[in-house]
Amino acid sequence: MHIPTPTPSNAARSPFHKRSVCVTGGAGFIGSHMCRRLLIEGARVTCLDNLDTGRHANIGKLEELPGFTFVHHDINDALPPALPAFEYIFNLACPASPIHYQRDPVYTALTCSRGVYNLLERAHRDGATILHASTSEIYGDPQVHPQPETYWGNVNTCGPRSCYDEGKRFAETLLRDYGARYGVTVRLARIFNTYGPHMQFDDGRVVSNFVIQALKGEPLTVYGDGSQTRSFCYVDDLVEGLLRLAASRTAGANPVNLGNPEEFKVAELAQLVLAATQSHSNIVHQPLPQDDPKRRRPDISRAKAILGWAPTTPLTAGLLKTIAEFRQRLEMPAPRKTAMRSAAELQAFQ
Ligand code: NAD
Ligand code: UDP
Repeated sequence: MHIPTPTPSNAARSPFHKRSVCVTGGAGFIGSHMCRRLLIEGARVTCLDNLDTGRHANIGKLEELPGFTFVHHDINDALPPALPAFEYIFNLACPASPIHYQRDPVYTALTCSRGVYNLLERAHRDGATILHASTSEIYGDPQVHPQPETYWGNVNTCGPRSCYDEGKRFAETLLRDYGARYGVTVRLARIFNTYGPHMQFDDGRVVSNFVIQALKGEPLTVYGDGSQTRSFCYVDDLVEGLLRLAASRTAGANPVNLGNPEEFKVAELAQLVLAATQSHSNIVHQPLPQDDPKRRRPDISRAKAILGWAPTTPLTAGLLKTIAEFRQRLEMPAPRKTAMRSAAELQAFQ
């Protein structure tokens, strides 16, 4: 299904127009872009977030809009009954970077299990479609490359990444089984490394670390020899894929990889960031974290076939946008709240 580029004039043709949509984790990095895009599509958006790793500043401007509501809520608790009935639930709530999800591994595992169960109960009650943000981490340190959805993965159940990897694996099982048992429409997106504006400065991820380090003139910290690879997807491309998957009538509950199949060594990324920031920072090497996957690249054949989706933003272009927003946040004081009335104004907002 094709979702046209959102403009105020074609929002009425969007499958999300006038729909009641819940975005859990909506104050986080991806969630805030999802909320903004859904508003452009004409949806009524309820953002649920406990601000564990999210930032109120990510959604501050959206709160001025009539179609947007923020509710401070932890999905480990049942959803407040007073909320409106939802037609779609996008579950993005979960700490996502290694330092965040390892900070309280029990909380991470519960958010992926009890939290997901609470959302399924709500989706059942409301007759909502639920799209869940799964992850390439379910493939662990993969022995098949690139990774198709049919690959079962290579995951350590007792390591520092297990709370997240196994949590997300369990969530996929729970969502599929609950959907089949109770007739809830489930969509599973396996998201690969995504980057862009609104990433947290201190999330420890490679793109945010390198950009901050380069902008501050500090050494870029390459873990190991930098030969490990990742494939980086710009956030706008990802959000487009998530919307298409949620609206798809054919995807079923089968997982769909969403990511950019262009693969880079971490050492190459460091050079790209140095060039894009025009920084004179050095590179230092630090130990590779335990169980760090050596290679990762999505096979997106399924997304192409079912959704007609593929990313369109080259890494260099996405890095420039990310760097510009990071620069703004570093150099300027927190922006004052400004009223935004039209979708056209909203499109200009990052
Ligand atoms: P993020 O940390 O910026 O956003 C997560 C949001 O969820 C935050 O706003 C946080 O406060 C909120 N949250 C966490 N636990 C919660 C809870 N129990 N109840 C309510 N809110 C809660 O991370 P992100 O990068 O935006 O990731 C969003 C989703 O996408 C996550 O589920 C993550 O696992 C998945 N994902 C992200 C990537 C990536 O590269 N960014 C890759 C694969 C999967
Ligand atoms: N990495 C790095 N320097 C950093 C942060 C991360 O070299 O400052 C490496 C990390 O070891 C991994 C890759 O970059 O090999 C991606 O790390 P990230 O935490 O962004 O994502 P994930 O490991 O979850 O894919």
